[in-house]
Amino acid sequence: MSTSNFDTLTSFLKTRFHDQAEYLQATSEVLSDIIPIYSANERYKHYDIARRLCLPERIIYFTVTWMNSAGEVEVNQGWRVQHNSVMGPYKGGLRFHPSVSLSVLKFLAFEQTFKNALTGLPMGGGKGGADFNPKGRNERDIMLFCQAYMRELQRHIGEQTDVPAGDINVGAREIGYLYGEYRRLNNRFEGVLTGKGLEFGGSHIRTEATGFGLVYFLDAVCTAQNTTVEGKKVTISGAGNVALHAALKCVHMGARVLTLSNSRGFLYCEHGYSENDINWAIEHASQYDNILTALKEHSQHPMNWYSNEKPWGIKGDIALPCATQNELLEEDAQHLLAHGCQMVLEGANMPCDQDAQAVFSQNNITFVPGKAANAGGVALSGLEMAQNAVFSQDDRDVLDNKLRSIMQNIHQRCLEEGQTDSNTNYARGANIAAFKRLAEAMVAQGV
Ligand code: GLU
Repeated sequence: MSTSNFDTLTSFLKTRFHDQAEYLQATSEVLSDIIPIYSANERYKHYDIARRLCLPERIIYFTVTWMNSAGEVEVNQGWRVQHNSVMGPYKGGLRFHPSVSLSVLKFLAFEQTFKNALTGLPMGGGKGGADFNPKGRNERDIMLFCQAYMRELQRHIGEQTDVPAGDINVGAREIGYLYGEYRRLNNRFEGVLTGKGLEFGGSHIRTEATGFGLVYFLDAVCTAQNTTVEGKKVTISGAGNVALHAALKCVHMGARVLTLSNSRGFLYCEHGYSENDINWAIEHASQYDNILTALKEHSQHPMNWYSNEKPWGIKGDIALPCATQNELLEEDAQHLLAHGCQMVLEGANMPCDQDAQAVFSQNNITFVPGKAANAGGVALSGLEMAQNAVFSQDDRDVLDNKLRSIMQNIHQRCLEEGQTDSNTNYARGANIAAFKRLAEAMVAQGV
């Protein structure tokens, strides 16, 4: 496909999916990076690989009708996007959030396909979820919703077909309820979900993996730039699983974590959060409506809460956006630049929009996209699937070492494919490295 055919594909996507902004954003970022590789390869053009990689193989939509704990009938929209299975079973999380739409899930499933290919494990890409808002709901409502959602989803998944996991608002508790319903309906144990409890087929380190993996990647970037994580000031957004475990690993490695945030504001700890503070937040997260203001009350250390502000105005060396898509915009990137930030690694999926990324690349700020930097979560899910397949459970240290080496390998692949004369373009490196794997597998499997 020549560049002009790429233009045809881009305009097809724009016309056909004009109302799917996130999906168009994610596909156009990848397409612009792979043009040279694609154009130089006759087989890729012949097999129409770019178009086939952009379009999901299958989209499942269902209405989730359920009765809440007060006896009222509620109706939600649920989806599973089975994007690409050339590398293995569809694999990717479930997100329960009012912002969930088909566009958001299509972008996430597309990104997941590339991310999973980078891990080197045999996993295809998918994503699912519902527009259900669990905030402020009682425990029973959460269970009832998870059960109703799984009653619909269960006929479309299986350990060799599609293996969902958690994502925003779907953690260990929700995975437990989803898994329980699957098992009751199907009368079989399978590793059909990952992120399960340790007592029923879960894996050590799965909970920590996305945040820990992010910092292992950061460590590899620092090594490549002849510096260390130790002593760095780190600003983090988010206060969920990824943000808190990234913060914990940063502290373990001797960095100073200055901020955490949520949709209501951010919490600044000038001297850096202590390991105890972060562990307390991890343990108590589900018990408080706002875990950060609760942490401020609980902690011995002075902290300041800033309502309705993002943390990017705080001076730091490294920024780790770990909240959600498009949370870090051009003006935020300008703040980071003005404060001397040198590296931005995405813990969330696509938290930096294209304008913010342009500020980074024009000013030599190292930028690592989520599909590479946050791949540790799904990599550990892959290891959970492998353990389930042989009914075993590996030790924590073994898995932690595997996680670290997977992140180092992804870093190496991004470095090789993203090297330019003056620096490393990790975003292009990640897109090209993943694309090559996917494209080769698709060609090898014919049409
Ligand atoms: N939701 C996570 C991600 O965005 C993990 C998916 C999984 O473990 O399948 O990669």
